[in-house]
Amino acid sequence: MNQPEPLAPATVAVTAGRPPRRPDEPLNVPVVLASTYHQGGPVGYGRYGNPTWSAFEEALGALEGGRATAFASGLAAVAAVLDLVPEGGLVLAPRHAYSGSLALLGALAARGRLRVHLVDIADSPAVAAACPGAALVWVETPTNPALEVADLPAVVAAARAAGVMVGVDNTFATPLVQRPLAAGADLVVHSATKYLAGHSDVLLGAVVTTRVDLLDRVVAHRTLLGAVPGAMETWLALRGLRTLAVRLDRAQASAAELARRLLGHPLVHRVRYPGLPTDPGHARAVAQMDGFGAIVCVELAGGAPAADRVVAACRLWVAATSLGGVESTLERRRRWPAESPGIPEGLLRLSVGLEDVEDLWRDLDRAMDSAA
Ligand SMILES: *Cc1c(COP(=O)(O)O)cnc(C)c1O
Repeated sequence: MNQPEPLAPATVAVTAGRPPRRPDEPLNVPVVLASTYHQGGPVGYGRYGNPTWSAFEEALGALEGGRATAFASGLAAVAAVLDLVPEGGLVLAPRHAYSGSLALLGALAARGRLRVHLVDIADSPAVAAACPGAALVWVETPTNPALEVADLPAVVAAARAAGVMVGVDNTFATPLVQRPLAAGADLVVHSATKYLAGHSDVLLGAVVTTRVDLLDRVVAHRTLLGAVPGAMETWLALRGLRTLAVRLDRAQASAAELARRLLGHPLVHRVRYPGLPTDPGHARAVAQMDGFGAIVCVELAGGAPAADRVVAACRLWVAATSLGGVESTLERRRRWPAESPGIPEGLLRLSVGLEDVEDLWRDLDRAMDSAA
């Protein structure tokens, strides 16, 4: 017997997490709104499990190559991974990681729960040198919002050699572009709020792992601390996941085109996009990713005031935080006090959505001209 060909990720995004193909079975798992189940089954109560969560988890797990556990938000998923760190344990984290993750690490460190050492995650020798004695290496690649690209195989190898667990926040890349578990990471975290759900209408997170021991602890954390997802949220996220491949294709193509045009714009001081051949992360991105994502970061020559004027002058681009929705959004990241001081004051983070790329360019170009 021939082994069936493994399905491509774009196909898995459509097919995974479906009910059995039986007459009159719906094609999609419905929204199961239940706190209470008849006794005698393996679930029993709404904080322990839900069929709609399970469908989303099955699909995401299939895409990442592990077992997924859904959480109420991305940050709840990050908190579940940090809870795996032993009391007083050392966490290496990127100095420019998502501000919420850094704020949580800072809060846990302030009360002595764990220790944090911030590193330049793109500097593999520095990460390797910091590994001995650590409990967890927390990786974002590309980082939010600096778009630095970590050398994932090198970081995993260094962590492995030192017996350190590796957790990767794969929110920016999505499993269609990057699969950290296959690269040897122990855990993957998602803010499913972003690309996976993809329509700016859901808060949701997930932890994915290949290790049964870690899966058990992550599920126990969710059950005990209660940061459970909603049935409606997991249903919406699974619905979003069905179109992830086509959404990403469009968003990435537009992001690449906009990054290229921004690079040649007289009012632009710097552009970061891993897909630009001149980007410091380009070679690594080519080696370890199946795309470059759809986030572009721009520094304008006029700094923060110019950046604020551009945001205010945009009509099509939405001035808003968050990312990964069908709508293109932008914001000056340092308007948030929690954003890392290492991020330039004038840096604009652009989340490229699904509108026509020429409309996006015209609006941005006009906003930049009017802000000059
Ligand atoms: C948004 C985000 C988070 C937090 O997710 P929430 O769903 O907002 O809790 C974590 N990591 C990254 C990279 C993010 O962009």
